Amino acid sequence: MISSVNKKHPHSSFPRFLLTLILPAVTLLGARPVKAVVWSTLFTAQDVRDHLATEQGRQDALAFCRKMGVTKVYIETFRDGYQADEATLKAARDFFRQAGFEVSGCVTTVRVHKPSAGGHSWVCYTNRQTQERLEAIFRFTAALFDEIMIDDFFCTDCQCSECAAAKGSLSWDQYHEKLMLQVSRERVIAPARAVNPRVKVIIKFPQWYDRFQDRGYVPDKESAIFDRIWVGTELRDPASGEWGNKQQYEGYFIYRWLTDVGGPKTGGGWFDPFGTTPTLYLDQPLTTILAGAPEVFLFHYGALTSTEYQAQAEALAPRRAQYEKLATFVSDWSGIATYKPVSSDPGEEAYILDEIGMLGIPDAPTAHYPDGARAAILTTQALGDGELVPKLARLLSAGGTAFISQPLAHRLNGDPRLPAPAPLDLEKDQYLKTVQVGGGRLMVFSDALPHLTHVDGQNRVEQLTPELRSALEGLRRMVSDFTVTLPDAPPRVAIYSLGGRVAVVNYTELPVACHLTGLAGMAHKLSQIYALDGANLAPDGATLRLPPHAALVVE
Ligand SMILES: [Zn+2]
Repeated sequence: MISSVNKKHPHSSFPRFLLTLILPAVTLLGARPVKAVVWSTLFTAQDVRDHLATEQGRQDALAFCRKMGVTKVYIETFRDGYQADEATLKAARDFFRQAGFEVSGCVTTVRVHKPSAGGHSWVCYTNRQTQERLEAIFRFTAALFDEIMIDDFFCTDCQCSECAAAKGSLSWDQYHEKLMLQVSRERVIAPARAVNPRVKVIIKFPQWYDRFQDRGYVPDKESAIFDRIWVGTELRDPASGEWGNKQQYEGYFIYRWLTDVGGPKTGGGWFDPFGTTPTLYLDQPLTTILAGAPEVFLFHYGALTSTEYQAQAEALAPRRAQYEKLATFVSDWSGIATYKPVSSDPGEEAYILDEIGMLGIPDAPTAHYPDGARAAILTTQALGDGELVPKLARLLSAGGTAFISQPLAHRLNGDPRLPAPAPLDLEKDQYLKTVQVGGGRLMVFSDALPHLTHVDGQNRVEQLTPELRSALEGLRRMVSDFTVTLPDAPPRVAIYSLGGRVAVVNYTELPVACHLTGLAGMAHKLSQIYALDGANLAPDGATLRLPPHAALVVE
């Protein structure tokens, strides 16, 4: 076993905890083992119309669900201005219930009366008729289902004349936050409960966590008022600028970060086939399960059975059992506390926390300042905490280490509350700098290091110069004082610290051989406990060999 030297993450997944408690009893009774993962899918309102209106259509949908291991379905009442027919919704609901499925509802708040002046798919929630239509949709849905998922369009950037008049002296961010909370309480949750006192309403958050504050998503306050939360773990082709060159680690970062916010209300992850190849699609269940999602939501039936994306579903179906097995090894996430306060602005560093993870440095994402931690990763996002500097000074005076991004170092430079003996800014062509401050140390790392994880439109990554290689090694050496890392892996190989276990995933397009450090002085041989797609631990018990997109778990 590998001992975990870092502060254990405060919230483990509540449903998994329950599973642990009930598993022995179930086993004694001789029942089937409790599954570590529930697979679910969605029938959008258009899928309901196009695929669930006939007995044959429902039978085809059932066959798809059986093939994919799906045991829970969400049947959507409204999307994109269209409300599904009530009789069809009831027939579909009852059909799946009778087939032994869990059945919930879903609403997607696109084209609900007045569009946002911002030009996205979002709507203007200040408008009274929008609010009344929204309320009617949730009343209709709550009469049919005891649980309602809200897809991640429940936000707004509207700055129309009605919104401008209503916001008064608030900033736009403040107004959108206030508006979305008010509409959630008064036009969604209260009317749904008035119709169906048993109803549970789930808010699903999009994967673009560094932009929530611009569009009225407030995960801490929304987690408090909704019954459950859901996490968008959608990944895209990292070479595609159309999707923002997404790093695969994002699915892990956001899931763990929102679990820190939502605690036991966090219900699962959600991804789709868009912007993926079958190989990239499979990075999604892998990363979502490594992050600890007890339910994996496959969006959506109509897409996954279309000629465009059915290859993605075909790729997943035969591998379900392997992912379910992986889930049994996943718990006790740790790493270096990586602090992003709720509603924090990323400045010029949007999604840098995903890139740090892709450098083989395990993030322990947290929305709360990691008091008592021996080390922390701090970027511009951390300035969302107005008390950051005194907190950082306390970490340093206790002998701690702070890994500081270059833009944050620039903004901390010259702050009298952090009396540094030297400027924190890096010099030209300098990639790393350690400054002793107040009994601890600040390690400033250059933008050039996280940028090593970027993939360009031709699927190329930057070549490691000797200077960059040496800087990356230096950063990882410092990281290995606190957690496990990969001293010799190329960028885009990620490591997940799971209690006494370590999972490594090769997100590059080439085979990789690498080693682990930071095992807290334990030198004995590793054992392989799980391998996906030809990964293996060499007979020396130390060398991890991973083909592209393969995963290995050792202890
Ligand atoms: Zn408006």
